[in-house]
Amino acid sequence: MHATFDLDRPANLAAAFALLKSEGAAALAGGTNLIVDMRAGRERPQRVVSLDRLEALRGIRQTGGQVSIGGRTTVTDLLLSPVIAKTAPALVESARLFAGQMVRNTATVAGNIACGSPAADLVPPLFALDAKLTLVSARGRRTRPIDSFFTGYKTDIRRPTELISRISWKAPTSRSCALFYKLARRKGDAITVVGVAVALDVDRGLCTRARVALGAVAPTVIHAREAEAILEGRPLTPELIDSAAESASAAARPIDDIRASAAYRRHGVRVLVRRLVTQAWERLA
Ligand SMILES: Cc1cc2nc3c(=O)[nH]c(=O)nc-3n(C[C@H](O)[C@H](O)[C@H](O)COP(=O)(O)OP(=O)(O)OC[C@H]3O[C@@H](n4cnc5c(N)ncnc54)[C@H](O)[C@@H]3O)c2cc1C
Repeated sequence: MHATFDLDRPANLAAAFALLKSEGAAALAGGTNLIVDMRAGRERPQRVVSLDRLEALRGIRQTGGQVSIGGRTTVTDLLLSPVIAKTAPALVESARLFAGQMVRNTATVAGNIACGSPAADLVPPLFALDAKLTLVSARGRRTRPIDSFFTGYKTDIRRPTELISRISWKAPTSRSCALFYKLARRKGDAITVVGVAVALDVDRGLCTRARVALGAVAPTVIHAREAEAILEGRPLTPELIDSAAESASAAARPIDDIRASAAYRRHGVRVLVRRLVTQAWERLA
């Protein structure tokens, strides 16, 4: 038998905050994680607070060099937005490979981040963009880099009464290239075995900024920091790229599971980092 719960649909943020304060409350966005978890008995909220009427959590905006999207932006919204196409091509690629059409229509960006899965596909491209999360509650708002949000497997710094209201990043210049690759058992509707997002900036023949973000190979999405340091400040050569790929593979802490062995995942990281960094560098050349 399934547990019973109260369902509320607050019309504004203040009402949502008040409801989220109650014992056993959980925010509901697209429900593509939460409802699945409730049906499986992994989550048993007593009060479900739907965010579906909160317009403050919607909208994709670009103001000058700054892009900001509401937490309730769906995966389909990402795919339809010219702003996202221009400023976050790696995010578009991960949205394109995300689930199937029905899930894409309801699954939200904040829900993907807050579910805390290391295999959450939108997160590596957001790491590569140095995205920031705005967390709001009745006590006010705070902004944190996405890479300091996660504290461990499915744990994060979010207080129970806080919502991810917006996700923002600096629009990249024309001297930037960002790519994402999802390695999975199938092309569609499959959980990621290895996800890699890479972003490079180039200036006068040098790689001035490198981001290498790895999904599904550690308890959280991670930056391969050493690999980034190997690439930054230099013109990229095949040897340097090999060494960054090796370093990224060493930074991974994958597990064996039904989808792949840890050794396969490490190998996947090495191959994909080498491939994506090479492709990004060639496009910028
Ligand atoms: C068939 C299927 C296929 C899937 N395929 C993929 C895939 O390819 N890639 C992938 O990454 N995921 C996939 N998922 C998982 C899921 O769709 C995503 O993680 C999705 O982005 C979750 O968003 P949601 O809006 O549905 O979140 P919900 O299920 O509504 O919520 C998930 C969690 O986030 C919290 N939350 C939601 N919104 C906020 C907010 N604004 N602030 C704070 N907390 C919030 C909720 O309280 C809950 O804890 C799949 C799921 C299904 C059922």
